[in-house]
Amino acid sequence: SHLLVGLTGGIGSGKTQVSDLFAALGVSVIDADILARELVAPGMPALKAIRQKFGDAVLDNNGELNRRQLRERVFSDPEQKAWLDNLLHPLIRHELIKQAREAPSEYAILAVPLLVENQLNKLTDRTLVIDVEPQRQLERVVSRDRVSEQQVRNIISHQASREDRLAVADDVIDNNGEISQLAPQVQKLHEKYLKLAKINLK
Ligand code: ATP
Repeated sequence: SHLLVGLTGGIGSGKTQVSDLFAALGVSVIDADILARELVAPGMPALKAIRQKFGDAVLDNNGELNRRQLRERVFSDPEQKAWLDNLLHPLIRHELIKQAREAPSEYAILAVPLLVENQLNKLTDRTLVIDVEPQRQLERVVSRDRVSEQQVRNIISHQASREDRLAVADDVIDNNGEISQLAPQVQKLHEKYLKLAKINLK
């Protein structure tokens, strides 16, 4: 594809909703979360390395990675967190670039929750940010995940701030309104990106 658009936003901002709308228009959507999970599936070299480092305690009975266990192990240990990031980030980056290159549509969407935090926006031609007020974000995640407000606040505090994200945005989708207000915004951006992809071709 000829144009790579990074799609990001905080937890519960609407990345899944927006990705689905782009996909429905025939746009290739590359999802960093899915890709990261595939990289540590049973039989993958990354899982073997993780098992050697952390032991069988981070595996489930069926040999799959217990992501919660692993998260708890590295949460309180910056050195182990750095080890894990050093293992996974280059692999994810490599796979993202590969899939973007192979994407058949005129432009592709790279959906990455931590695009700004992990500076993956350096890989993309443009950054599309989904903007939502923190209070709405909080309410939506609490009602979707059945978790406490405090848990969501904690996650939000570890992500880039609304301002940090908007500062690097080339385009913004406003998701403070009804879900039905997303499709027209995606349609407009789709037309814009198709034009930009043609220019990038030349
Ligand atoms: P995560 O970062 O956790 O993967 P996400 O960015 O993919 O989340 P979604 O799952 O798309 O966000 O949306 C979060 C929740 O809020 C979902 O339950 C979704 O249905 C709901 N939601 C999204 N947009 C709106 C809206 N405009 N009005 C009401 N609810 C919404």
